Amino acid sequence: MRRYFLILLAIFTVGIVSQPVLADDGSSLPTNYFSQDAEDNSTSDFSFNDPNQTPSTKKLAIPRDTPTPLEGVRWRKKTIRIYMRTTDLHLKNAFRNAVKKWNKVKAIKIKWTKDEDKANIIAADGDLSANSSTNNGVGYQTAQLGETKTEYNPDTHELHKATSILDPYQLDYTNPNFRSEVAQHELGHALGLAHAPEYEHSVMVSRNIRTGITKNDRKSIQLLYQ
Ligand SMILES: [Zn+2]
Repeated sequence: MRRYFLILLAIFTVGIVSQPVLADDGSSLPTNYFSQDAEDNSTSDFSFNDPNQTPSTKKLAIPRDTPTPLEGVRWRKKTIRIYMRTTDLHLKNAFRNAVKKWNKVKAIKIKWTKDEDKANIIAADGDLSANSSTNNGVGYQTAQLGETKTEYNPDTHELHKATSILDPYQLDYTNPNFRSEVAQHELGHALGLAHAPEYEHSVMVSRNIRTGITKNDRKSIQLLYQ
């Protein structure tokens, strides 16, 4: 049972670049993928000490070769609860619209809850400017628009919590459609999708988002939750 305490935290971000991306190392892992640093455990306060919480040991099946890559984790139930923590009007609209778009996929049902404690996903805002990074030797900035942190059990592949954050300062200058696409991308992470390669037609392309949820993304979520 000791293994239940092994909860990993992953963070995914989405950025937009001022110039086309130049070289790529061909790595399939998102560049911002990392396990939680020991010094930053404030975001990982999930605990199994609650006696009412009896997590299942049943391993969740993760399909292979989906059109959009998967992170290898999913929610156990197909009804997923989301709580609106942000009060920013633009971002609220973006999250609401993104939830509607994901619910059209039918494989899962994302429901709004007013009880943060009962939520699986938190829709939040935050200043992500610290995520900005300069590419080595190239010198242009990557401004971060959104970020999703997930906590999951690597043994059962079960997601336990996801927090999707949009940066209001970055997104204020964009249009509602684009804001919704960034929210769709972040909720895609919250549902178990990983970054898609730049050439794919997917909302999960990590830079220069130019589409909402595509057929590939729908198919992938259907396979993951079937
Ligand atoms: Zn991302």
